[in-house]
Amino acid sequence: MKLAINGGKKIRTTKFPAYNTIGAEEEKAVVEVLRTGVLSKFIGGWTKDFFGGPKVQEFESAWKSFFKVKHAITVNSNSSGILCSIAALGIGPGDEVIVSPYTMSVSASAVLIYGAIPVFADIDPKTFCLDVASVEKVITKNTKAIIAVDIFGHPYDSIRINALAKKHGIKVIEDCAQAPMASRDGIYAGALGDLGVFSLNYHKHIHTGEGGVIVTNDDDLAERCRLIRNHAEAVVDSMNYKGNARNLIGFNFRMTEIEAAIGSCQLKKLPELVKVRQQNVSYLEGKLKQVQFLKMPLVEAGCTHAYYDHPILFDQNLAGVPRDRFVDAVKAELEVTIGREEEGVLMDCGYVKPLYRQSLYQNLNGIGERNFPFDPSFKFNIPDYKSMHLPVVEKMHAQTLITHELMRPGMSQQDLDDVANAFIKVAENKGELK
Ligand SMILES: *Cc1c(COP(=O)(O)O)cnc(C)c1O
Repeated sequence: MKLAINGGKKIRTTKFPAYNTIGAEEEKAVVEVLRTGVLSKFIGGWTKDFFGGPKVQEFESAWKSFFKVKHAITVNSNSSGILCSIAALGIGPGDEVIVSPYTMSVSASAVLIYGAIPVFADIDPKTFCLDVASVEKVITKNTKAIIAVDIFGHPYDSIRINALAKKHGIKVIEDCAQAPMASRDGIYAGALGDLGVFSLNYHKHIHTGEGGVIVTNDDDLAERCRLIRNHAEAVVDSMNYKGNARNLIGFNFRMTEIEAAIGSCQLKKLPELVKVRQQNVSYLEGKLKQVQFLKMPLVEAGCTHAYYDHPILFDQNLAGVPRDRFVDAVKAELEVTIGREEEGVLMDCGYVKPLYRQSLYQNLNGIGERNFPFDPSFKFNIPDYKSMHLPVVEKMHAQTLITHELMRPGMSQQDLDDVANAFIKVAENKGELK
C-alpha cells in the first residue's frame, strides 16, 4: 500500500472534529452574569470585595471541594498563578529555583521575573517529569524551590521530590496545568506540592478562555497569593497584615465574573472529559501495541494519568527509520482538526525545544540595561546554559518522543481507528521511507 507521503491514498481525508466543551450551560451562565451588569466585583482594597464577586467565590468554593484542598484562588492564567506562587514563597534576586527543561516556557521564565535563577534538571525517561537524582545534583544553599510539572498529565514524582525538598527546607510549586484529575495515591495533582497551579486557557481539558487556579493547603501562602493577585501594596496597610511583608507588590491577576461563571459549568464536566480521554488512549494503545517499535507511556503504580497529550516512545533501532521521517509519514496519512487548521495535524516530534536552548538562556537576555540578573557584577551563580547538555531530555526531543492530541473527547471510534491505522500503515510500509 503506497504511503501518502509518497503520493499514495491517505487514510483520512476529512478534518478531525473540534474539541469543544462549551455548551448551553455556559451560555446560560454567561447571559445571567451579563444581565446583572457586574462583570467583575473585585476591589483592590480591604473590603468584602477584595475576594471578588459572587461567581468568583462560588467557583473557588466548588474548585476547592472538588480537588479536596483548603484554598482555591482564581487568577487570569496559570502564568500569573506561577508568578503569585513564586512571590508568595518570598523568592527573590539570586535565589535558585529548579525547573524542568521540558515544559511550557513560563514555568522557568516566571522565576526570572523575580530576579531568581532557573536551574534546569533532567527529566525521567518514563514519565517525562523531573528526575529526582538530577534534581538532587543541582540543589545548592541558594535553592528555594522546585517547580515540578505534571507534564502531559502524569503526576510528578511527589513522593521522592517532596522528601528531597523537605530534607533541604525548600518548597515545591506544582505546575498542574496539564493534569486536572491526575492523581497519586488518591491525592489529586495540584495538592501534591506546597502550591499547585492549574490553567484554564483554551487548550486545556476545561477552560474559561483564559484563566487559572492556584490551590494550597497553607493558609499563609493562600493569603499571600490573594494579596499578590489583587494589588497587595494597596491592601496590606488597611488589613493590618502581620505576616512577612516582602514580595507583597501586587498585580491585577483577577478573574472576571464571566470567566468564573463559565468555570463552574466546566468543572462539572471535568470527570467525564478526563474519563473519555483515558478511554480513547486505552483504545488507541490497544491497536498500537502491534507496532513493536512504539512504546506506550507508563502510568506509575498508584497514579492516574489525565492525558493532556498522549506521549509515545519511538525506538529508532527497532524501526530502522528516523523518528522524524516516520512522523512525517503518519501525518501525511491524516488530516487537520477543525478550528486548529493552522497547526497542521496535531502530532509532533518531541514537545518543546528544551528550554535552556531558548535564546533567552543561550544569550542571557536579562532585564534592563544592567542585564539583571545575568550581569557578572550581581555575583549570582548562573548555570552555563550554553554548554548545558541534559541527556534524557535531549534524546527524547531529538529522537524518541512523539506527542499527539488525536485522542480528545469528540473523536469517534472511526476517528480513533483512522489515527491508529495511519501509524500501522506507515509501520507496515516503512521500507518505502528509506
Ligand atoms: C498551558 C500551560 C501553562 C500556561 O498556562 P496559561 O494559563 O496559558 O498561562 C503553563 N505550564 C504548562 C505545563 C502548561 O501546559
